[in-house]
Amino acid sequence: FTYDAPVLEDRPVRVVFGAGSLHQVGREAAALGRRALLIAGPHEDEAAGVVAAHLGADLAGRLRDVAQHVPTDLADEATRRASRSGADVLLAVGGGSATGLAKAIALRTGLPILAVPTTYAGSEMTPIWGLTDSQGKTTGRDPRVLPRTVLYDPALTVSLPPPLSGASGLNALAHALEALYAPDATPLLTTVAEEALRTLAEALPVVVAQPDDRDARSQALFGAWLAGWALGGTTMGLHHKLAHVLGGTYGLPHAGVHSALLPQVAAFNAAAAPEAFTRAARALRVDAPGDVGQVLFDLATKVGAPTSLADLGLASDAIDDVAAVVAASTVANPRPAVEAELVHLLRAAFIGTRP
Ligand code: NAD
Repeated sequence: FTYDAPVLEDRPVRVVFGAGSLHQVGREAAALGRRALLIAGPHEDEAAGVVAAHLGADLAGRLRDVAQHVPTDLADEATRRASRSGADVLLAVGGGSATGLAKAIALRTGLPILAVPTTYAGSEMTPIWGLTDSQGKTTGRDPRVLPRTVLYDPALTVSLPPPLSGASGLNALAHALEALYAPDATPLLTTVAEEALRTLAEALPVVVAQPDDRDARSQALFGAWLAGWALGGTTMGLHHKLAHVLGGTYGLPHAGVHSALLPQVAAFNAAAAPEAFTRAARALRVDAPGDVGQVLFDLATKVGAPTSLADLGLASDAIDDVAAVVAASTVANPRPAVEAELVHLLRAAFIGTRP
């Protein structure tokens, strides 16, 4: 199906959803410009071949180097190559890293983005960009980086290995949960976020147990769309702040960091946001809103997603530094977090204790 999702008040994102929708890439790219620059890492060679076949002479080139959190030197080089290629459309095929590089180019050039996501990260539905240098990660919001069109083709996610599917799914769940208690959540986005939680929690165990189950893959990608949409329209809270510092400064795998943090942050916030957690509990089919953190921990374990920051490679002496940086920053969170509480929370996520 196709749908114009109202992510920003003044500009919808055109969504094309369905197995095989990659084959509409030629028509969708042509609606945005004349020549497209493909941004797709090495894992996306097969999909890149399909794109190249559809675009023919309208393909202006391909960028194969993508990296998490978009290092600034990579963004600089990619922007130079985009300008030299004569492209007037950026076509990102891949996870949040490919989308992120397209966003970095769009931020500098204003070129429109056509995104074809292959993970559940959800960046394609947000006007949020991120860039990382030796000082850490900087994020911001700019309407120019919000893709104009997104092709969601569940067939492209079948190759996503089960552990990465699980971790990426927890990344999407984190977007939905934080949107539920965001200070600027609207009734529409709250409904979208609740549905995202329900859909993802149902689909992920099937996706991991039977990776080639097309229905479950479709449901999970649908949930990821809704979660990204909710994230794009709301202000992020403590969870995302912690994830940005851990990912940007310590280079930990993005989706895994979300997975290890989410149960702990949920347990920390539950009592301070009763309405949001009542909705979350309903979506996750648990009775007590206070149990949401535990249920998310159990779900992460079930789908083989990380629950421990130590397992992801964090050194224990980083905990105090992360807590200090986050405590000193302004975060829209239902419960204010002082440094000592953050140390406690991060220790639990470090070890991977069930909250
Ligand atoms: P990723 O894009 O780095 O992908 C993870 C790994 O999976 C890569 O090795 C990739 O090549 C591989 N992969 C991706 N799709 C695959 C598939 N279908 N089959 C097989 N392998 C596949 O990781 P991610 O978690 O999708 O994205 C993380 C990045 O996205 C981070 O930089 C994060 O900050 C950013 N992000 C941004 C936003 C936003 O709104 N700006 C939201 C979420 C994530």
